[in-house]
Amino acid sequence: MPLIDVAVPVPLRQTFTYTHDETLKPGLRVTVPFGNRQMTAVVVGECQKADNPQKLKAISEVLDTAPVLDNVQLTLCRWLWQYYHHAPGEVIHTALPVLLRKGKAAPPDDQDYYQVTAAGRALSPDSLSRAPKQQQCLALLLKERQSATALKQRFSLAVIKALTERGLIEVHRQAYTPRPQKWLSELQIASKPVPDPEQAVAITAITQKQSQFAPFLLEGVTGSGKTEVYLQAIEAVLEAGRQVLILVPEIGLTPQTVSRFAQRFGIDVGVLHSQISDKARLRVWQQARNGEIGIIIGTRSAIFTPMKYPGMLIVDEEHDESFKQQDGLRYHARDLAVMRANQEHIPLVMGTATPSLETLNNAITKRYQHLQLTRRAAGAQATIQQVLDVRDQPMRFGLAEGTLSLMGQHLSQGNQVLVFVNRRGYAPALLCHHCGFTEACQRCERPFTVHKAHRRLHCHHCGATRPLPPHCQSCGKAEMVTAGVGTEQLEQGLSQLFPDSPQVRIDSDSVRGKDKLQTLLDAINQQRYQLLIGTQILSKGHHFPHVTLVVVLDCDGALFSGDYRAPEKLAQLVTQLAGRAGRASKPGQMWLQTHNPSHPLLQDLIHNGYAHFARHALLERKMAAQPPFGVQIVLRAEAVDGQLAFQFLADASQRFQAVQVIGPMPGLIEKRQGRFRFMLIIQSAQRKVLHEQVRLALPEISAMPLAAKVRWSVDVDPTDFS
Ligand code: ADP
Ligand code: ZN
Repeated sequence: MPLIDVAVPVPLRQTFTYTHDETLKPGLRVTVPFGNRQMTAVVVGECQKADNPQKLKAISEVLDTAPVLDNVQLTLCRWLWQYYHHAPGEVIHTALPVLLRKGKAAPPDDQDYYQVTAAGRALSPDSLSRAPKQQQCLALLLKERQSATALKQRFSLAVIKALTERGLIEVHRQAYTPRPQKWLSELQIASKPVPDPEQAVAITAITQKQSQFAPFLLEGVTGSGKTEVYLQAIEAVLEAGRQVLILVPEIGLTPQTVSRFAQRFGIDVGVLHSQISDKARLRVWQQARNGEIGIIIGTRSAIFTPMKYPGMLIVDEEHDESFKQQDGLRYHARDLAVMRANQEHIPLVMGTATPSLETLNNAITKRYQHLQLTRRAAGAQATIQQVLDVRDQPMRFGLAEGTLSLMGQHLSQGNQVLVFVNRRGYAPALLCHHCGFTEACQRCERPFTVHKAHRRLHCHHCGATRPLPPHCQSCGKAEMVTAGVGTEQLEQGLSQLFPDSPQVRIDSDSVRGKDKLQTLLDAINQQRYQLLIGTQILSKGHHFPHVTLVVVLDCDGALFSGDYRAPEKLAQLVTQLAGRAGRASKPGQMWLQTHNPSHPLLQDLIHNGYAHFARHALLERKMAAQPPFGVQIVLRAEAVDGQLAFQFLADASQRFQAVQVIGPMPGLIEKRQGRFRFMLIIQSAQRKVLHEQVRLALPEISAMPLAAKVRWSVDVDPTDFS
């Protein structure tokens, strides 16, 4: 009787062997008895020899007729569970769409289509000339019916609704039948700019490498036309009947990004991000797998989307932190993309203005081909960056007098000003002016952030919230004052100082809700606002041609952070922000407020630019044997009783040889949600040695009695030390 290895979704670092009356293909879903219940599992291979074959249980049911995971996906899953030292069942769980994890039927049963009614066909084409969008929509449907998803990508709901209500089009439901390479008959390339010489070099280099593994770093200053390079490189891939998967940061995936691709080629684009329903995700997954859609754009987990005709992978803004998952399976989608491109023998383009030091090092050492775009397209000039010394300066709402008068000048000329602050809310702390008592979250031991708009305190670490207290909890005096400045307070202060300049705040509080961000961004570019106040969100993917002044409130935190990656992150943020502002006729300037104007990092960054800074930072990492020159794995542990977490890691630290062990030490956020947090950094100059040590140690560590008493996890190639 064949012995079948399956991955069961439990947090154990092993696969499990069952019997079945015939061999089963890897990638099939099955139901197996596990403990005292039945679970959905996935076949990963055949087991040659088991110790106690007579004791093995039998597979209860085979759920699929064809595997849900293909060979490439299974190979990647195996790499993931080995490389990230993670439970195989959980890896496979992450790789599958939610509906398939639950053991549902694989193919989506039916789909909604729009088609023209008899009345619509009888209508004279001119009768809609007052509603050109409706006319276009009808014309498209007259050519061919469209799936509801595809139609909604190209036309607004209002247009579709109007036509439906007039009885010109109707929706009907039909069984789903795949149409491989459907885009080949639809492909229609819209007009495109002539690439400049650097773009042309990049496009040629990429297109020459069709059908072979070829990783590229496309390093191009913001606005230098990286997206245009992707678009022109994709063209040949689509024409050859092959598919393209594009990963973008969560915040970069706006309807505009999608329509830029959809409109250039006139074809459907599969979209995958966190706001998309499980059902819609499964459909895109199916269509990609059946080779029906040529372009798939998605955020981190889209890297697991199967492709029948793989042609190219693109990771846009490859430095973005959102590509690394920070819980469960802590994989890096960019690194997985490299593995995948290798498996599928296709090119991989990683584009950014501010490459991560890891990727830059791979380009410098020629593991990746380095393509550079040094000029901003369409003649926009680079933003001038300067440091503003705020020592001993009177400050108002976190802004120095010098900054305020500069802002006044730009605003009075009718330009837009962008103020960047790292904290949302009103103020990072509420304290008593009399006794100094600070209101803090008891579970996290961190000051509460004040949100004045709804008169509450919020903990940004655990989400705890309570009303603003009228008195000090310690001395009882009613002298509570706020400390530090957040987006809300800036907004309030600036509306007093510049009452004539309409302002808008953009942070994760103000853009909550569907399409809210896009609406605000559109309003900004139509110059309905003059003063823009915001957090990180502003630094990602959006252009602000009317902004002539960018102010960064405070860079000191990042200069002195306990996280060795903080300077890299600051430099990326500052460079991205600078790149978003200005254009040819309105060059931008950027002022960085700091108490450390002569800090070498800041000086290097503003005088020599990110590319120079990054190469210097790489040298520093090299001397400190930090990544990418050393390799790190972090063991984390947290518990209500901090002593237990500490002791667990202290015991664990005894299990490693021939590698450097640092800690246990507290996390940069020492307590979160009532638990004390510790970490142990294990590092080595050699990846092989480090991984082998961890592989050997993990079974012993899992068996320690304390392992059951604390929450612990393994983080390979950590990027976040909070
Ligand atoms: P990035 O992705 O590097 O930020 P984009 O590809 O979005 O840059 O290009 C920035 C702007 O310049 C876009 O409006 C784009 O249409 C335009 N552009 C890009 N390449 C060219 C070119 N070769 N000629 C003219 N305009 C271009
Ligand atoms: Zn808290």
